[in-house]
Amino acid sequence: MQATTGEAKTSVSSLNRRPRILIVDDDPLIQESLSRLIGAQNYETATAGGGRQALDAVGRMQFDVILLDLNMPDIGGVEVLAELSRRGVATPVIVVSGDNAIDSAVNALRHGAADFIRKPYKPEELLKRIGNTLSNQQLEKENSQIQQRLQQSEKWHRFLVNTSPDFIYTLDNEGRFTFVNDRVESLLGHTRDELVGRHFNEIIFEEDQFRAEHVFNERRADARASRNVELRLKCKDGQQRPRVMNGRYRTVEVTATGMYEFPESRFENRFMGTYGVVKDISDRKQAEETVHYQTYHDLLTGLPNRAKFRDHLGRALVYGKRKQLALSVMILDLDNFRVVNDSLGHGVGDELLIHIATRLRQCLADDDVLARLGGDEFAVLLPDASSRLEATVVGHKLIEALNTPLRIKGHELYITASIGASFAPEDGAVADTLIRQTEIAMYQAKSQGGCRIQHWQPAMQEAFSGRIQMEADLRRALASDEFVLFYQPQVDTVTGAIKGFEALIRWWHPERGIVLPNAFIPLAEETGVVVPMGEWILRQAAAQQAIWRKSGLPPVRVSVNISPRQLETADFVGSVLRALEVNQLEPGALELEITENVLMRDVESNAAKLTQLAEAGVMLAVDDFGTGYSSLKYLSRFPIHTLKIDRAFVKDSELDGMSIANAIVGMARNLNLNVIAEGVESIAQLEQLRSLQCSEVQGYLFGMPMSAQEATRLLQEQVQGEVAKAG
Ligand code: C2E
Ligand code: MG
Ligand code: MG
Repeated sequence: MQATTGEAKTSVSSLNRRPRILIVDDDPLIQESLSRLIGAQNYETATAGGGRQALDAVGRMQFDVILLDLNMPDIGGVEVLAELSRRGVATPVIVVSGDNAIDSAVNALRHGAADFIRKPYKPEELLKRIGNTLSNQQLEKENSQIQQRLQQSEKWHRFLVNTSPDFIYTLDNEGRFTFVNDRVESLLGHTRDELVGRHFNEIIFEEDQFRAEHVFNERRADARASRNVELRLKCKDGQQRPRVMNGRYRTVEVTATGMYEFPESRFENRFMGTYGVVKDISDRKQAEETVHYQTYHDLLTGLPNRAKFRDHLGRALVYGKRKQLALSVMILDLDNFRVVNDSLGHGVGDELLIHIATRLRQCLADDDVLARLGGDEFAVLLPDASSRLEATVVGHKLIEALNTPLRIKGHELYITASIGASFAPEDGAVADTLIRQTEIAMYQAKSQGGCRIQHWQPAMQEAFSGRIQMEADLRRALASDEFVLFYQPQVDTVTGAIKGFEALIRWWHPERGIVLPNAFIPLAEETGVVVPMGEWILRQAAAQQAIWRKSGLPPVRVSVNISPRQLETADFVGSVLRALEVNQLEPGALELEITENVLMRDVESNAAKLTQLAEAGVMLAVDDFGTGYSSLKYLSRFPIHTLKIDRAFVKDSELDGMSIANAIVGMARNLNLNVIAEGVESIAQLEQLRSLQCSEVQGYLFGMPMSAQEATRLLQEQVQGEVAKAG
């Protein structure tokens, strides 16, 4: 009894009101006695005198239990049960019947009655049944709520798992997938159904399978589980993955934890399988690879860069030492690349480099390394060259590979290369030292005229140090006034009169005596010393011209050689005009000699500067004409006054009748230019040039380059000679 009351109380508390009980019986006495019995408990009661009334009451109000008589005149209890179930009323019904037949009890229960109690009943029995029914109903309600909550939470979990950006899986104890979330489809192209039941090995990239074995057979749990192990997973065949560098796999980070039957127990535990998360890191990986690629490759040619080459060489040296193998390093520099780049533009230059890289690569074996060190400099590593001869053979192959001209954007380009080579371990066993020595050998090859291979020799180190010493010397010489200008006369072929002087620099070296320009101009050019030196030459030549002008001697032209580096400086025009102004000279007092090849470089900006000077009245001469491109098309873009025929075409004159000089003179006459033939040493040459109507000559025949005093004396003698002639 007490329990009954207690349960009734529980019901009250969870219903927030007293349980409401509908009593259905056609016998008013029974109605009343039941009402009294039940109402005495903590129940609220209502009564119905028949089936119809009962259904009406249920329609109006919510009951917690219905006590239902079976035999009623209007609608019988079974029909009421049927109607309630049809209406979906869930209120539990206790059938209270005087019918003794077992059938009626079964029938009532079959129609949905919650309980059956036979009349006459003991009151406490009835109350107990009511109490039980109420608490059963309450339990059911709670169950269904729990069920609902469970379903909801499962739905949530499924949602979370399936919309996770990561691939979540479980494996059975043999490594077969028992669960995978939806992410697997977008990641690898497999559907969930395709994967479940299959062994993990089937999706691991071959090279990673050994490692994967270790990860996925993960039997450790908790902190000892595998975390963030990097693996590659195969994509399903035929999956289009354009964003991935390698469409065949995705790079992922995997965690794996062992699952056990009794997670809390440390003993006698049965291994159930593995679960974990797979995170796609392909994009990050690709970014890393791109950065790595850019750090170690030349982006233009795709070849390894200097850093990567050092790396290769370092490793080859270590390996060579262990295996007692020799190796060879070569550095190749293009001889005339700058001219192409400057005259035809960087687009052509870049394409040329790409073509050259391809040609060089074709000459090498798979194991050989070809790198671009920068600019027009390439490096080759022959990781098992057995002798210097082998390197020589490969070097010649590389030089030959460039022999056939390259066709780029309609230009036919001839490129040659200078190669330095060294041999390890004989020449050195440290990567940086070898590279430096090979570079010095390459410079040596270049200074011998290019298009050759030169092996490193220890003596070169001294020569190279000599170069460095020389550079310091040049700067010092400039500061301490060790340079002087000599002057070589330029003479009229018809009258023999001195028309001008070419200023030629000499280095009055404190120990070495007079040093000729060919010994230091190239280095001055390379190191940039030629720029301040060139400015000094301009000032010096202009000052000398001013002295001659003021001395009352007949006016002569003074020509000054301009170096390419000097012409390229932003202030070039200013430096020429200043030299003239400071010495109060008219611009026509100076002529600038520029070699043909220099005019070809960076045509636009050179043309602009020279035009500006020509417009101011400065004269221009093309030096060493005939040795370069000799393209009239280019020349016509510059405001030129004089062509200087190179010595080479005067020297060969006796043999071929100066056919080239003849052509140049003809061309110059057409363009209305003054022509000076250089290097005239004999009367015969002079005669020939005179007959070709070459206007002026310059050469040892008329005077070596001489000091300013000597040149002044020569001018004075000429005046005296004329005076004497006139006298
Ligand atoms: P370049 O401008 O063609 O000068 C002519 C060179 O031919 C001079 O050599 C001159 O001494 C030499 N020469 C003249 N007549 C004869 C001859 O009959 N026979 C032979 N065999 N040679 C003759 P140098 O003075 O040694 O100059 C060599 C080059 O150095 C010059 O060639 C020029 O390119 C450069 N150079 C000379 N002085 C300067 C300068 O002041 N500034 C710059 N930037 N370069 C200079
Ligand atoms: Mg000259
Ligand atoms: Mg010359």
